[in-house]
Amino acid sequence: MIMPKKLERIDNELGQVLLIEWTDDVTTSCSVRRIQENCPCANCGEKKGAGSKEPVLLPIVDSGELAPLEIVTMRPAGNYAYAMTFSTGCNQGIYNFDLLRQLGDVQ
Ligand SMILES: [Zn+2]
Repeated sequence: MIMPKKLERIDNELGQVLLIEWTDDVTTSCSVRRIQENCPCANCGEKKGAGSKEPVLLPIVDSGELAPLEIVTMRPAGNYAYAMTFSTGCNQGIYNFDLLRQLGDVQ
């Protein structure tokens, strides 16, 4: 089974990025925003379903005033996944390693 062997959170101008080095020596990077948008928990799934037919209205504020989306805590869930808490949004996402690997861009 391919597992993360090193995890790094990096802040760049586009927001926080999660860099993962895997046991097969592949490194992937994934924006925390993309991770949060793909949250598998029931709450986020419902929100996605309910809002999918409505046009997205962007708030008229400077993006600098928005709270940055960040991973606040990340802890192992069993030996196959990580549980993540985000600065905005949910705290119930369990991300298995397969999902994290799929979401990332290979470096
Ligand atoms: Zn969620």
